[in-house]
Amino acid sequence: MSLPCSRLLAANGVVFLGQIIDKIDRQDAAIKSIELETHRSSTMNFRGNHILSVKQFDRDSVEQVFQVADDMEPYAHRLRMTKVLDGAILGNMFFEPSTRTRVSFGCAFNLLGGDVRETTDVKSSSITKGESLYDTARVISGYSDVIVMRHPQPGSVAEFAKASRVPVVNGGDGSNEHPSQALLDLYTIKKELHSNSRSIDGMRIAMVGDLKHGRTVHSLSQLLLLYRNIHFTLISPTELRMPESIVSNLQAAGHEVTETEEMEQGLQDNDTVYLTRIQEERFDSKLEADIYRGRFRLNQAIYTRHCQPNTVIMHPLPRDSRADANELDNDLNQHPSLAIFRQTDNGVLVRMALFALILDVADIVEDTASEVSWYTESRFEE
Ligand code: ASP
Ligand code: ASP
Repeated sequence: MSLPCSRLLAANGVVFLGQIIDKIDRQDAAIKSIELETHRSSTMNFRGNHILSVKQFDRDSVEQVFQVADDMEPYAHRLRMTKVLDGAILGNMFFEPSTRTRVSFGCAFNLLGGDVRETTDVKSSSITKGESLYDTARVISGYSDVIVMRHPQPGSVAEFAKASRVPVVNGGDGSNEHPSQALLDLYTIKKELHSNSRSIDGMRIAMVGDLKHGRTVHSLSQLLLLYRNIHFTLISPTELRMPESIVSNLQAAGHEVTETEEMEQGLQDNDTVYLTRIQEERFDSKLEADIYRGRFRLNQAIYTRHCQPNTVIMHPLPRDSRADANELDNDLNQHPSLAIFRQTDNGVLVRMALFALILDVADIVEDTASEVSWYTESRFEE
C-alpha cells in the first residue's frame, strides 16, 4: 500500500500536524484496507522482529511478555539497575503528539541501560521537506538498534517497518492500532482481576466513549480474541460505534457483544470499565467532536449507583478533564479500583519486556545487575 502522506507534505511545504490529520483518508476505510504483513503464530519469534499489530500474538506469546514484564519489576521500581542494553540506541520517533507513550518507551529503554534519541516534532523533521517514509526508515535505522514510531496515518508504521533495517515497534498509527497499550492494558486487567480472584477468560468488560476512533480499544478488543467467553458491553454514540469488523470478529470468537447508547444500564455487572476520550484529532472539526464530548461520564455517584463494587476503572490516558468533557471525574482519584496510574506504571514493565525480547536479552538482564546507589523511596503501589 502506498501512502500519500509524504506527497501531501511536499505539496504544501510546512504543514502542521492538525492539517495532516484533517487530510487523512476516512479512517474506517483505511482500517479495513490495511493488511499488515503479520500473522498469528503458535510460537512467536520476538528476536529481531517488528511489533506492529496485536494480530501477531498468540496466547503463549502474550504470556511470555507478561512473564518477562514481571521480571522487570525490581528494575522499574528502582530496587536494582541493569546495564544489559549498554551501548544500544532507541530511535523514539513520534510524528503525532504524545507524552505518556513516548516517555514510557524512552524510560523503559533507559532502565535497561540503553540510550534514547528522540524525534518529536514533525515540523522540524525532514518529512516536512517531502522525505518519504522509506528514506526516513533507511536513515534512522542506520542510527538505531530498535525504533518506536507513532504516526497519524493508519498503516504508516507497517510501511516504515518494511524499509527499516532494525526492529520497529508501533507506538500508535492513527486510529488503527496501539499494540503496546493493549498489552499493558491486558497485563493490568490480569493483575487487577487476579486480586479479585477473577480471570480474563469469562470476564465482563464495558468499553465506553469514542470506540470508532480509539485505537486502544481496537487493539485491546483484538487481543481479547485470544481469550474465552468474554462479555463486551460497548457503550458509545451510534456514530462512534466500534468498527463492524472488530465486533464481528469478537462474535466469531464466541464472545458476547452488547452495543448500547445507555451508559447507566451498560455499566452494570462488569468486572472492568474501560473509558476513552473523544478522539478530537480524528474528527473533521472540533465542532463535530463537541457534539459528543461529555456524553458519557463516570464519577463517584454514578459508580456507586450503577457499578458492582470492585469494578476496575481503566482509561488509556490522557483523560479529558475539561469541564465540558470530564469523562472520568477526579472524585474517583482515591478510589481503590481506579487502575489508571497502575496502567501507566505497568506500561514501563511491558515495554521493557518488549525491548528485552526483541533484542534478545531477556535471559541475561540479571548478569549486569547491581543495587541502585541513589535515594529511592518506594513510590509504587503494591
Ligand atoms: N496523546 C497521548 C499523550 O498525550 C498519547 C499517549 O499517551 O499515548 O500522551
Ligand atoms: N493515549 C492513547 C492513544 O494514544 C489514548 C488517547 O490518546 O486518547 O491512543
